Amino acid sequence: MLYRSGFLKYVVSAAAICLITGMIAAQAPASWTVRPEWVRAHEEFLASDVLAGRGSATRDEELTASYVASEFIGYGLRPAPGMNGYIQSAEIISPELDGHAALSAGNVRAEEGTGFTLMQSGGVSMNGPLSKIRGADVGSAKFPRGSVVLITDVPAGKTAVQLSSSLWRGGAAMILEPWDDSTQQLYTMVGGKTRLPLRLKDSPDNRSGITVVAVNAAQLVQLNEVADGTAVSLTVKALPQASPRKTFNTIGYLPGTDANAGTILLTANLDHLGVGRPVNGDSIYNGANDDAAGTTAVLELAHALASGPKLKRSVLFVCYGSEEAGELGSTYFGEHPPVPLKDLVANLEFEMIGNQDPKMPKGTLLLTGYDRSNLGPTLKEHGALIGPDPYPEQHFFERSDNYALALKGVVAHTAAGWGTPPTYHQPNDDLAHLDLPFMTAAIQSLVEPVRWLASSDFVPKWNPGGKPSRN
Ligand SMILES: [Zn+2]
Repeated sequence: MLYRSGFLKYVVSAAAICLITGMIAAQAPASWTVRPEWVRAHEEFLASDVLAGRGSATRDEELTASYVASEFIGYGLRPAPGMNGYIQSAEIISPELDGHAALSAGNVRAEEGTGFTLMQSGGVSMNGPLSKIRGADVGSAKFPRGSVVLITDVPAGKTAVQLSSSLWRGGAAMILEPWDDSTQQLYTMVGGKTRLPLRLKDSPDNRSGITVVAVNAAQLVQLNEVADGTAVSLTVKALPQASPRKTFNTIGYLPGTDANAGTILLTANLDHLGVGRPVNGDSIYNGANDDAAGTTAVLELAHALASGPKLKRSVLFVCYGSEEAGELGSTYFGEHPPVPLKDLVANLEFEMIGNQDPKMPKGTLLLTGYDRSNLGPTLKEHGALIGPDPYPEQHFFERSDNYALALKGVVAHTAAGWGTPPTYHQPNDDLAHLDLPFMTAAIQSLVEPVRWLASSDFVPKWNPGGKPSRN
């Protein structure tokens, strides 16, 4: 008995030891710790005044892209399939106009300056059929691509700028809006000149080509008399571009063990607003949160995953340029992906994870478009500290790089901290205003869920009606 009981005891404890060692082996990756000093080190450089706010398609953006590439190399990432290095560049057009635009619609003629203010232009002449809409009816009205939409009046409690941003989402190519306090304010804010967004040189999708015209009162009365469907044209004269510009995406690749298992795409944007209008004597828009924080998340997830056991799926880590100029880097990437888009199982973008959102549970990130697919809920089941975006009215899902990929069918969402913190797009979005412990914990919380996603067979799907489409 003694012997037997002793033997049994041995068997039991040996089994327990096997079980424990097995558990340790299975859980070994969980021992990865995102160290706060690594997070701080990335931010110290990315958000420093030396990089002058990482303006879209500038040398500062290129320097940032080089830093990210160097880090990727250090972690052991490889160049993506078909690439020799880690940087994908795209030519950018930076339009300039002569300031003498002309508008015509039926018998109505108007000149820039005396008849209207050209608020924004893609740098090219535009024409299309007129659709008039009362300000009260703007709501979620949709228009065929290429429409010229005239807002005939602005109801009390609304501004022309608010109405035109709804129309922009509704697909209008050119908006004619009344010149009011809000348009005047916006025009002054951008320096008293036409906003001329950058655009990709060769792209079928040039959304930043939208044109916005603020029409003076007398011309508005005349345009009101023009019948719907009448051809409207705006003629602009572009000046030759002084020097060629490029934007830069940094791409790192972690090959998986199963070439047929698909690829996970982890992304952020590395550019910000550069140098702009001074606030309290500070003109450098550091973008420590927007989006050096997301870039840091991509870097540290690359660090963690490349240091762990081999994964079944491949992972692409991408930091895009020119997000602030209209998601140009991600649009270009979507048109020139190093792996076929159909092989991209999921895209997680990281944006502004540097502060806790007051509406979210403590330590939790919001995921834009949470209900559009089963990706968010499934990652949450696997321990990700994420939840539904409490600001659907802000359209965050459409306001980050995930959107360019989502439009192409990839299940793509953005994980973010505070949706619009007080530092949003201000020069004080700097290191001092980051919550580094929150940020470090947020990145840490995603390591294992992302590792699970890259090791599993789970293929996320859009929920019915969740996949976005551009009209
Ligand atoms: Zn931004």
